Amino acid sequence: MRVDVMIIGAGAAGMAAAIKAKEEGAEVLLVERDDRTGGILNQCIHNGFGLHYFKQELTGPEYAERFQEKMDKLGIKAVTNAYVKQIGNREVILVTEKGIERIEVGALVYAVGARERPFGSLMIPGDRPSGIFTAGVAQRLINIENHLPGKRALILGSGDIGLIMARRLVLEGMEVVGVVERLPYPGGLLRNVVQCLEDYDIPLYLSSTVVEVRGRERLEEVVVAKVDESFNPIPGTEKVFKIDTLVVSAGLIPQLKLVDSLVNKNPTSKGVATSNIGQTSTDWIFSAGNCTAVFDLVDYVTYEGETAGKYAAKFVKGEVKGGRIPIKPGKNAAVVHPLWYIPIEPLTLYIRVKRPMEKGRLVAGKFERVFEDLVPSEMLRVRIPDRYLEGLDEIVVSIEEVI
Ligand SMILES: Cc1cc2nc3c(=O)[nH]c(=O)nc-3n(C[C@H](O)[C@H](O)[C@H](O)COP(=O)(O)OP(=O)(O)OC[C@H]3O[C@@H](n4cnc5c(N)ncnc54)[C@H](O)[C@@H]3O)c2cc1C
Repeated sequence: MRVDVMIIGAGAAGMAAAIKAKEEGAEVLLVERDDRTGGILNQCIHNGFGLHYFKQELTGPEYAERFQEKMDKLGIKAVTNAYVKQIGNREVILVTEKGIERIEVGALVYAVGARERPFGSLMIPGDRPSGIFTAGVAQRLINIENHLPGKRALILGSGDIGLIMARRLVLEGMEVVGVVERLPYPGGLLRNVVQCLEDYDIPLYLSSTVVEVRGRERLEEVVVAKVDESFNPIPGTEKVFKIDTLVVSAGLIPQLKLVDSLVNKNPTSKGVATSNIGQTSTDWIFSAGNCTAVFDLVDYVTYEGETAGKYAAKFVKGEVKGGRIPIKPGKNAAVVHPLWYIPIEPLTLYIRVKRPMEKGRLVAGKFERVFEDLVPSEMLRVRIPDRYLEGLDEIVVSIEEVI
């Protein structure tokens, strides 16, 4: 079998890519290992999705449904329960209920999302009882499988997922004794700190971490301690929390496994490196969504998916031409995406700062703009007009603190 554009993963990025590739005239194959489209959106039943894209606040499943409806109208039928096992030279090995198939592709859009950092990788000493869940697993248990993970919980990590789960557990009748964060500031969006913790009187313990886990069969207690600037526990600050559930929300890691040996990585986001049209270092492979960089908002993932889908289809038609200008992370830029600019599409930059700043001047090529209240947890999305990039042979992106 041969298709023009194959898309792996039917989350927000993959669905958007499929729609745009089809609108561009390509024959499209969208494959998804789950039994439905939507990806992580299916288990995010809270609202807060689509404010940029639809100017409306939707739940995750509602947001996904809008794209499913659009796919139905265009006649795009995702192949579900289909797992991509391997990617070769312009070919993909797909495992479905019918068997193993080799598919030749004109272009590929890799949109497989991110995975959660597991508890084991945190190297926390102590016992290994039941009752320890990653936030995504706890969310799936509650929102999809209708099971409560326990009665009394502590959340480790104050990223958006940890904050949202703290509120979710309380709404479902559990007690949440606190959220513990090793950084001196919350890891998630400010609106989530207010709406998920402050509104429910859930304490947030900053500059703190779990230093020991105790329990024979089931989790019985954890020890939390304050940490210094290098995240080393400070002796004498230990506090014991009697809980039966520890929810670990220690961040997302872009999934790279299938393309590990095929494409360059973005050292700042730890994801697939792409240009502003979603093209990777291998010309026929495009990529978008959380496997390129972990985005705060699904709207951004959708924009990126649309661009990758559109240009994957154009690539098949031989319409992607032009040199690439490298984009280089400079001072105070912790994450910069994309890493190349091809002047056939305007440049939209996604940036995370290294540390909080009251005021910072973003410099990208000849472009400069001052932003206020910059924090690492909130991604900056900035469209850079072409005139600021003309004549450059590289674009350095930095943020200078304005005092
Ligand atoms: C708990 C939580 C809360 C969030 N809250 C908000 C919010 O309030 N507002 C907001 O805007 N955003 C929020 N987000 C972020 C947003 O939901 C995500 O950024 C976005 O949905 C990610 O889309 P994606 O397509 O990149 O990845 P995913 O949704 O992860 O989709 C990737 C898909 O690829 C499939 N796949 C992976 N490997 C294979 C393979 N080998 N073969 C076939 N298929 C494969 C997976 O099954 C999956 O369906 C939240 C995210 C989480 C996790």
